[in-house]
Amino acid sequence: MARYTGPVCRLCRRERTKLYLKGERCFSLKCPVAENSDRQARAYPPGMHGRDRQRQGSEYLTQLREKQKARRTYGLLEKQFRNLYEEANRRPGITGTNLLQFLELRLDNVAYRAGWGASRAQARQLVRHGHVAINGKRVTIPSYRVRPGEVVSLKPVTRENFNVKRNLDVLDRTVPGWLEVAEGGFNVTVRIVPQREQIDEPIREQLIVELYSK
Ligand code: SF4
Repeated sequence: MARYTGPVCRLCRRERTKLYLKGERCFSLKCPVAENSDRQARAYPPGMHGRDRQRQGSEYLTQLREKQKARRTYGLLEKQFRNLYEEANRRPGITGTNLLQFLELRLDNVAYRAGWGASRAQARQLVRHGHVAINGKRVTIPSYRVRPGEVVSLKPVTRENFNVKRNLDVLDRTVPGWLEVAEGGFNVTVRIVPQREQIDEPIREQLIVELYSK
C-alpha cells in the first residue's frame, strides 16, 4: 500500500492551513501554521525558496491547491484520488458532493471520526493492523466504503489500549450526526450517507471538479 511517509507538517505549510495530520500536536502551540504558534517563524511554505518566492495566483493554481488540500487531508495518493473522482463523476448527483461522501465513508475516516485515532493516519493503522471490524467481521482495508446500516466496532482487547482511551478521553472530538455511537464510543453505526453540511472539512470541492474536468 503506497502512502506518503515524509514529514507531514510541511504539507500544511504548503497549503498554508491546518490539515490536522498529527493528532494532539495540531491543537498545541507547536503547530507551525497555528495563528498564535510559538513556531510562527516556520509558517512559510517548505522548500529552499519557500520564504522568498511570491507566486502569481492563477485559476489553475487555486484549483490545484484545493485538490492537494483535500487529498492530503484524507491521506490519499493522486491515483486513488483521481479514481475516486472518476467514480463520483459517473454517479448521479453533484460530483463534488459525491466525492466528499466517498472520502468520508472510507473505513479509516470512520475510525477517525469515531475518535479512535488521533489522526487519520493513526486510524488507518488501527484498520491495517486488524483492530476494526464491520458487523463483527474484521476488515483491514482502509479504503473500504462503509454502507449505511453497517456497524463499525473496535476489537475488545484494543478498547483497553492506552492511546485509544486517551484519544477518546482527551481529544474528545464530536462524533458527526451521521454516525450513531454505542458501547461507550467503541461501536459506531453509519446511520446515513453524510450530507454536504455534515462534512465540516473546509474544502471547496467545486474547484477540484473544475480542475479534473479540464
Ligand atoms: Fe499540520 Fe498538525 Fe503539523 Fe499543524 S501540527 S502543521 S495542523 S500536521
